[in-house]
Amino acid sequence: MTNNVYILLGSNQGDSKENLANACLFIKERIGLIQTKSSIYRTAAWGNTEQNPFLNQVLLVQTELKPMDCLNNLLQIETEMGRIRKEKWEPRVIDLDILFYNSEILNFENLIVPHPFIAQRRFTLIPLVEISPNYVHPKLNKTLLELLEICEDSLNVEKLP
Ligand code: AMP
Repeated sequence: MTNNVYILLGSNQGDSKENLANACLFIKERIGLIQTKSSIYRTAAWGNTEQNPFLNQVLLVQTELKPMDCLNNLLQIETEMGRIRKEKWEPRVIDLDILFYNSEILNFENLIVPHPFIAQRRFTLIPLVEISPNYVHPKLNKTLLELLEICEDSLNVEKLP
């Protein structure tokens, strides 16, 4: 059975654009078909202005994997991408989060879905709204567009050309 999983990609070390592109290749190989890709957005680092800005992108992926297998594969990709770049760059070159898995509500010890901070972060909501404005958040019962309209986050999120 195919499942729809929304994945948030983030990078602020090394060549962030290339890191996002490489993560997409890994995801295609290990998670499943990328059905939709948002644009790439640039955001000031959340809560830490000393850091480089982040590039973020959201993917809608069709997967046969169960949620925990999805998470484990994403963590493995993070590790491998960190390791590949270790000599040149800092280890955290990529961050991969599961935002939604179908419309399921999951509360495992190490996997919470929907991701708890979706409604608080414009860098997550804006790319989500670009690809699925009418998707209804299964816990908050509002569309992503409605959540963006009431989001109080003031960080600037800039779409890259
Ligand atoms: P971070 O690197 O700060 O994104 O945290 C990664 C950890 O968060 C992972 O080891 C997961 O076990 C945990 N986690 C909980 N919920 C999620 C989720 N929806 N997506 C990704 N990681 C999650």
